[in-house]
Amino acid sequence: MEEKYFSCDPVACNAECCRSISTKPVMTFGDFLRIGQHLGKTATDIWLESGNVAVVPLQDREGIAALAALALFHNPCPYLSEQNKCNIYNSRPLGCLEFPFTAIEDGHVDIEGYHSLDCMKNVRLFPAQRKLCKAVGRIAEEETRLDIELFWSENLRGCIDIFSQMQYEEIARRALGVIANGKVSPAMAREVRISAGEMHLLISSKGYDSIGVRELCNFLEPMVYAIKREQFAEVFRKAEKFKHRYKKTSDELRKLAGFFNSF
Ligand code: SF4
Ligand code: SF4
Repeated sequence: MEEKYFSCDPVACNAECCRSISTKPVMTFGDFLRIGQHLGKTATDIWLESGNVAVVPLQDREGIAALAALALFHNPCPYLSEQNKCNIYNSRPLGCLEFPFTAIEDGHVDIEGYHSLDCMKNVRLFPAQRKLCKAVGRIAEEETRLDIELFWSENLRGCIDIFSQMQYEEIARRALGVIANGKVSPAMAREVRISAGEMHLLISSKGYDSIGVRELCNFLEPMVYAIKREQFAEVFRKAEKFKHRYKKTSDELRKLAGFFNSF
C-alpha cells in the first residue's frame, strides 16, 4: 500500500481520537494549569470537572495495579465542540499536541485503541513534524520531572491491590458510593456505572481468574478517579502555589503550539 504523509482532518474523521477512552491523554500538572488559565479557572477546578487517571498493571507483580498518571476525561473529551473543534486548542495537553506523531514515529500505530484510526495507517511524518514532536517530548519529560518533585511526593501513586474479586468489588462499591453523593460530573458518574456494570458482567460470564489484569485496569480507571478525586484535589490546591515552576515549559510550549497550528 502506498505510504503518505500524516495530515489531520478532524471534521472528516469525526474527531475520533478526541472521543475514544483508549486515546485519552495522560496529563502533567502543567497541562491542568494551562487549561485552567485558558478558561479562567484553577488547575484544581479542571481536575474536579474533567480529570481522570490512568491505571496500569505493574509489569513485575501480576495482580497489582498502579495508579500511573493523571489523565483527562475522554468519552468524549469535554473540550471537543459539536463542530469537532478543540475548544482549548492553543492550550491543549501535551499528549494531544504529540498525538499521533509519537505513535507513528515509534511505530506504535498497531497498539490497542489506534486500530480504527485511518489517519495513522501507512503514514510517515514530515521532518518538521518529527522535530516538533521531539521538542514536545522534551517538555513533557521536564514537566514529568517537576510533577514527581512537587506532586507525587504525597505518595498518592500507591498500588491498588486487585489480588482478588473481593478487592475489585470493594473498589466498585466505594466508587458507586461516591457517585451516589453527586460528587463527580454526570459524564464521569455514567462512566463509573458502566464500568462497574460491565466488569461485573464480565466476571460473571468468564470468571475472575480468566480476566487479564490489563483489562481489569481499564475498568478501574473511572472508579479510582471517583475514589481519589477529593484526595488529589487537596494536592492540586497545594501544588498551585508552585505553578511558577511550570512557566518556562509553558512559554516554550506556546512558541511550539504556533508551529503545530500550521499543520
Ligand atoms: S489525529 Fe486522526 S483521528 Fe485524530 S482528529 Fe486527526 S485525523 Fe482524526
Ligand atoms: S483537549 Fe482538544 S485535542 Fe485534546 S482530546 Fe480534547 S478536544 Fe481533542
